[in-house]
Amino acid sequence: MEYDLAIIGGGPAGYTAAEKAAKAGMKVVLFEKDELGGVCLNEGCIPTKALLSCAKHYSSALEGATFGVRCEGVEADFAKMQERKIRTVRRLAGGVKARMRDAGVEVVRAQAVVRWPGAIEAGGDTYGFKRLLLCTGSSASIPPIPGAFLPDGSLNPAVMTSREALALQEVPDSVAIIGGGVIGMEFASLLSTLGAKVSVVEMLPEILGGFDAEISAMLRGIYARRGVDFHLGVKVLSIDGGCVNFEGGSVTAQRVLISTGRRPNLGGIDIPGLKTVRGVEVDSHMRTSVSGVYAAGDITGFSMLAHTASREAEVAVNDMLGVADEMNYDAVPGVVYTSPEVAFVGKRLEDAGDGAKVLSLPMAWSGRFVAENGDITGLCKLVLDKDGKVVGAHMLGTPCSEIIPTVGVAISAGMTAESLQKVIFPHPSVAEIIRETITAQLEKPCV
Ligand SMILES: Cc1cc2nc3c(=O)[nH]c(=O)nc-3n(C[C@H](O)[C@H](O)[C@H](O)COP(=O)(O)OP(=O)(O)OC[C@H]3O[C@@H](n4cnc5c(N)ncnc54)[C@H](O)[C@@H]3O)c2cc1C
Repeated sequence: MEYDLAIIGGGPAGYTAAEKAAKAGMKVVLFEKDELGGVCLNEGCIPTKALLSCAKHYSSALEGATFGVRCEGVEADFAKMQERKIRTVRRLAGGVKARMRDAGVEVVRAQAVVRWPGAIEAGGDTYGFKRLLLCTGSSASIPPIPGAFLPDGSLNPAVMTSREALALQEVPDSVAIIGGGVIGMEFASLLSTLGAKVSVVEMLPEILGGFDAEISAMLRGIYARRGVDFHLGVKVLSIDGGCVNFEGGSVTAQRVLISTGRRPNLGGIDIPGLKTVRGVEVDSHMRTSVSGVYAAGDITGFSMLAHTASREAEVAVNDMLGVADEMNYDAVPGVVYTSPEVAFVGKRLEDAGDGAKVLSLPMAWSGRFVAENGDITGLCKLVLDKDGKVVGAHMLGTPCSEIIPTVGVAISAGMTAESLQKVIFPHPSVAEIIRETITAQLEKPCV
């Protein structure tokens, strides 16, 4: 059978594209070798946030007295937290399945191998296609650290990636985390809150490389005060059982989590002329170097975020349908779901060009933030270009994940700080901090 569109990979990129294309009248087949929903739903965004939410409830109960709630005998029941995580994932997976069924997408639950040109083999059958969209995502990349693998090629039993960490049955007494990026810090937050002694070993001079350095340092300070050890600017030399040896020291833990990044899944995609650099190369319409072949999501090796993946998928399908659309990465938000949260969108000051400046204000200027938080450490930074246009925002303080899109909208609309300041925000809301940051620093005295 020939399909208008064949999609490999049922993660956020693949299922978004499949639904959109099928609803637009295309005959679509979607191949998924594991579970619909991809890494995001099954072993990424959703399960981490489900467990982090449980940990947050636990820590709120421990701090109940601050809010006049007497809680005695508070205990974390990790098995129940894992059960809740599984229920959450199942529920959302059911939603994705229903969306595919309702849109009329044919889902093939098998590993797909491209037989170029024009065919895919999966589960013993062959499927013809006119267009192909590659959405195979990414996998944890384990650097060649001596000791990470045993001589027989299997993973050192003390070592885990985010996949094994999410499936833990018990909270380990101690965990050494190699890599203080987003995933590393979310697990540092989860496991330290639930009682593990956590050490983070990071090669860069600061955690959350690529984020605003002041905010990264503030987050590190918060977790250091809670007992997390940080070893920054050091390269890991070897792992021996649970002992991580790095330049100038070592740390021994029951488990070692390697969270040093992810690499695109390129297996089974042997297409002559398909250019790859970090991942599959694409233009701003998500077209690859081969006519009729598109790619979206982590496979491009670029943004590695679920919301980018689904937007890229929309752009790809729009191109197939002849609808004018293009990817723009100027306002892609990024969030670290620690407690407190960190969020950014757009540029940092150092990337915003000559004449750019930062307006910043402690989150404590927001009445609601102070009313609702025990620890009122937090910061809002807005980056303006030389013309006063808002080009970035960097925040520390929950719930900045929910308010950062406001700045994303301002960036997308090309708003200046003055025009954003005229927007009316509800009071009291934490989002008001955006307006306050501008008001506090842009208003000139009357003369
Ligand atoms: C621990 C963790 C936490 C994360 N948290 C967040 C977060 O909070 N927010 C966020 O935006 N992002 C987060 N991410 C990243 C997010 O999960 C990815 O950016 C997103 O899943 C990418 O979507 P995708 O569709 O490109 O690929 P994926 O979700 O990786 O899906 C690809 C799918 O393709 C399938 N596949 C691959 N090859 C084949 C083949 N040959 N045949 C058939 N099927 C195939 C795979 O089985 C997989 O299901 C997190 C990632 C991890 C690991």
